[in-house]
Amino acid sequence: MTETQVLNETGTTLAFSTDYKRIAVEEAWAPQQLLDVYRTELAAGNISDPGFNSLWGYYLGNTERASALSARIVEAGPNRLAAMDAAGVDVQILSLTCPGVQILKTDIARTLAVEANNILKESVDAYPDRFYGLTAIAPQDPEHAAQEIRRGHDNLGFKGVIINSHTQGEYLDDKKFWPIFEAAESLNTPIYLHPNTPSPQMIQPYVESGLDGAVFGFAAETGLHLLRIITSGVFDRFPNLKIVVGHLGEALPYWMWRIDFMHATSVKSRRYEAIKPLKMRPSDYLKRNIWFTTSGMPWAPAVEFVRDVVGTERVMFAWDYPYQWDPQEVAALDALPWSIEEKKEFFQGAAEQVFRL
Ligand code: MN
Repeated sequence: MTETQVLNETGTTLAFSTDYKRIAVEEAWAPQQLLDVYRTELAAGNISDPGFNSLWGYYLGNTERASALSARIVEAGPNRLAAMDAAGVDVQILSLTCPGVQILKTDIARTLAVEANNILKESVDAYPDRFYGLTAIAPQDPEHAAQEIRRGHDNLGFKGVIINSHTQGEYLDDKKFWPIFEAAESLNTPIYLHPNTPSPQMIQPYVESGLDGAVFGFAAETGLHLLRIITSGVFDRFPNLKIVVGHLGEALPYWMWRIDFMHATSVKSRRYEAIKPLKMRPSDYLKRNIWFTTSGMPWAPAVEFVRDVVGTERVMFAWDYPYQWDPQEVAALDALPWSIEEKKEFFQGAAEQVFRL
């Protein structure tokens, strides 16, 4: 094993193997314009979504963490590269941070999605061996979103699509959104289903207890969203559609057995209009159409469990910069008791395969 030693911000030296590249696939970015719009909308009280107000009310505030985050997230140059170098991260796949333009009125959302993609393209072009991009869309206008997916893929060279879970309380299993799936499947380009705060319909018990964010609410919202996509039959209609999900699958791998059992029971009982027979068990779609990343979850027992139940070839590294970017987390994953070939698949190969890098 060959190694490189780097000095991180805490002054400790970490050694990273150089036998493979580390490609981090859920790395947040936003153009300053988007944060400016968020700030204006928050100040005007124009957005009623309690999750948005909780999340960006905090991150556009004056605390040390908030200021550091809002400065780092708009930058895709020397500072980000230095943080990557200090953690042995070779490449970041950049995507528009949560909730992107999905919280905005349709006309401005369309315009800002296109602008964000154009700006991201400049950063990716400036450091082509360090950054890739995902296409931001405004699902509020599904036809425009499908068109932007095609532009991102064909003209901008982006490697997938970013969707930050619910769009103003609406979920992608609603057939009006399916032009988005149709475009992604036809281009063989994956959709990264990134968390958002719980939708307005479900957020109250989370926000009143302070649990609406990454501590738990993100996973509850996004796991539900992914499960709705599966049980609504999206993957029977689009069998080659690829969805990437962070945080080791937002807990769905852990629930797999029970979801299969109870889904079959619900189909049989005809208790729900929304639950119809599927061609396969819900877990089969998790093992055919979904890829899983370790963003925010550098925890060996959970990583090993998910690899065990969904297959090693669909579990890959993500870092979640600049929300969570401790070099020690990368080192912990690097120290897992796997062969060099397995580590190469986890840090590099799986991402190259699903994003077609
Ligand atoms: Mn993230």
